[in-house]
Amino acid sequence: MSEPLLKVENLVKHFALPGGFLKKSTERLRAVDGVSFTVSAGETLGVVGESGCGKSTTGRCILRLIEPTSGQVWFEGRDVTALGKEDLRALARDMQIIFQDPFASLNPRMTVGAIVGEGLVIHKLAKGNADIEARVAQLLETVGLNADHMRRYPHEFSGGQRQRIGIARALAVSPKLLVCDEAVSALDVSIQAQVINLLQDLQAQFGLTYIFIAHDLSVVEHIANRVAVMYLGRIVELASAHDLYTTPRHPYTEALLSAVPIPDPTLKRQRIRLVGDVPSPIRPPPGCHFHTRCPIAQKGLCDVQRPELKQTTEGHWVSCHLRS
Ligand code: SF4
Repeated sequence: MSEPLLKVENLVKHFALPGGFLKKSTERLRAVDGVSFTVSAGETLGVVGESGCGKSTTGRCILRLIEPTSGQVWFEGRDVTALGKEDLRALARDMQIIFQDPFASLNPRMTVGAIVGEGLVIHKLAKGNADIEARVAQLLETVGLNADHMRRYPHEFSGGQRQRIGIARALAVSPKLLVCDEAVSALDVSIQAQVINLLQDLQAQFGLTYIFIAHDLSVVEHIANRVAVMYLGRIVELASAHDLYTTPRHPYTEALLSAVPIPDPTLKRQRIRLVGDVPSPIRPPPGCHFHTRCPIAQKGLCDVQRPELKQTTEGHWVSCHLRS
C-alpha cells in the first residue's frame, strides 16, 4: 500500500488559560487530545463533531497556523511540526485552507484580483502583472465566476460567490491538500450544494485531497470518502462514509446520525436525544469523555477507563468499551 499523503500522529493542542491577579493559571483547555489519522492522495476525509470538539483546531494545527502542543504531522513523508519558517512557507503552497466565514476571510480593502493573485506574488509563481492577471482570470472562471470580477471588491458579492473567491485564492498556488474548515456552514442549503459540487469537480480536475470539517454529518455525506467523528478533542469513530452512515458503532455517532433527515419518507430513524450539554474541555470527564451523555454507559468502567480507538472491522475504528 502506498504511503498516505498526510499522517497525523497523536496530535495534542492544549491552550493555557489566563490566570488571575498575580497568579499564573495551571488550567488548560484541551482542544485536541491525542488525535491520529491518515489521508491518502485524492481522498476526502470528513471531520465532524459539535462545536468545541477540536475539529477546526486539528485542521489549523496540521497547517501550523496554530502550534501543536505535541504530536507529529507528516506530509509527503516530512514532519511538518519540525519545519523551520522558510520550509513552512514553502509548504504553504502544498497545503491551503478555506475558512468558514466568507465575509470575514477576505480583506475588504483589496480587489478580488489582488486577493486571488496574492499567493502567486508571494510564491513567485507568475512573471509580471500581465501573467498574474491572466492567471487570476482563469482561476475565477475555474470556480464559476467571471474574469471581470477581479476588479471588484468582496462586499459586492454574495456569500456563495465570496466562498468561490476563497477557493480561487487557495487554488492559485496549486495545492495538494485543502483543509475546508466549515467551508459551507455559513451558506444556505442550496448554495452549500453548489459549493460542494464545485469542490468535487475541482478534486476530479486537479487531483486534490480534502480534509472537510463540518459540524453536521449530513453536510459531509456526499463529499467524504471516510469520516472521523470527534468528541471533546478525541476521535470516537473513523470509517468509510458508507460504513459510518449505514452501520455506525459509537453511541455518539448514532445520536448524530439519528438527527440527519432521510429523503425517503417511508424510512424513519429513531431519534436519539442526548442528555445534557457537551462538558467543558477545561475539565473533561474522566474515562470515556462521552460517558456523561451516553445512553449505554457502564458505571465503574466508562467513567474510569479511557477507551482506545480500535479497529473493529477492516477500516472501521471505534473508541468504545462496549462496541469494539
Ligand atoms: Fe458509552 Fe462507555 Fe462506549 Fe463511552 S465507552 S461510548 S460511555 S459505552
